[in-house]
Amino acid sequence: MDVYIDYNATAILRPEVITAMQNTFQLFGNSSSVHRAGRKAKSAIEEARERIASVVEVSPAEIIFTSGGTESNNLALSNRDIPVFISATEHDSINAVREDSKIINVDVNGIINLEHLEELLSSADRLSMVSVMLANNETGVLQPIQQVVNIARRFGAIIHCDAVQGLGKIPFTFSELGVDMLSISAHKIGGPKGVGALIVKEGIDLPPLLLGGGQERNRRAGTENVTGICGFGVAASLVQSTLKQASNLESMRNKIEFEVKEKIPEVTVYGHGVARLPNTSCIGLPDMSNESQIMALDLAGVYVSAGSACSSGKITPSHVLKAMGFNDNAASSAIRVSLGWQTTENDCNTFISVWTDMVKRIFNSNDLCRSVA
Ligand code: PLP
Repeated sequence: MDVYIDYNATAILRPEVITAMQNTFQLFGNSSSVHRAGRKAKSAIEEARERIASVVEVSPAEIIFTSGGTESNNLALSNRDIPVFISATEHDSINAVREDSKIINVDVNGIINLEHLEELLSSADRLSMVSVMLANNETGVLQPIQQVVNIARRFGAIIHCDAVQGLGKIPFTFSELGVDMLSISAHKIGGPKGVGALIVKEGIDLPPLLLGGGQERNRRAGTENVTGICGFGVAASLVQSTLKQASNLESMRNKIEFEVKEKIPEVTVYGHGVARLPNTSCIGLPDMSNESQIMALDLAGVYVSAGSACSSGKITPSHVLKAMGFNDNAASSAIRVSLGWQTTENDCNTFISVWTDMVKRIFNSNDLCRSVA
């Protein structure tokens, strides 16, 4: 049986979501059309909007549907007239948007240096923006968003938070975080891929990225993805039940970390000891390329990711681990295990035995090579 423990890449679709999406295929109308078919599609979208709004406790009008976390992040940073400060461990959909972004340093756990943030903000001569993620996708490490907000508010800055990895894994509401904009994505919570939202506090001015249509109150042009949005709404309404699983996921995650460390003491668990997502573990073993680890695990039917970005099938050293002060070797040898709603104890045991056997085999063959050389 395959073991899927790569939920930070994407969560397994919830069956309730599949059913809800199947039901929307009859909603053929364009939600902008005024006839009944259009109104039906529109009302399905508005129902989903309300479901999502109630999970993060915002007004439905503050939700802009997008094509996912990437677009939400791009949209949040779309005002090119204001300076932007981002943390050194942000997702590439934040890193790549503005080549003039100033980087806030992080410590060895990837937590932002609040004094550096303050320094950067005091050097800005006009309204600026701060974008800091809630939880890191590779390590699961949480950022002190409320403290970021306290500092940024003193300078009157606009605050965006990429909460794509936080939703459904840790409890929060929009007002608890205190930010002005928040990105979320459906496929990380058991919903479909290709749909997400940017939540924008009333009164925040945001230039649209996509032009040519009045949808989403003129903030995101294009005919809405009714099926995706409805799936997102249902996935959002299941967030509370996922959150109830958090302590179970955390104990399974802790067991993995404990056992792999016991069997292979050279292992490093990044972010261990600071506040982290309960489902995520970033495990490193220097000199052991994450690409080969992932391939060997894949052959055994165990699916994990590298603790780093993977584009066009090529894994590059993790910019997150490098920002935390680790070298290229460490940044190329970490894997990320991320558990989710369908993970069982058995899955964790399979991962532990397959991974530790693989590492021992490689260690032994390296020893053999050394003795032959
Ligand atoms: N932000 C973070 C922290 C992520 O982990 C991801 C996806 O991995 C994204 C943004 C992008 O989201 P999407 O895949 O919906 O475009």
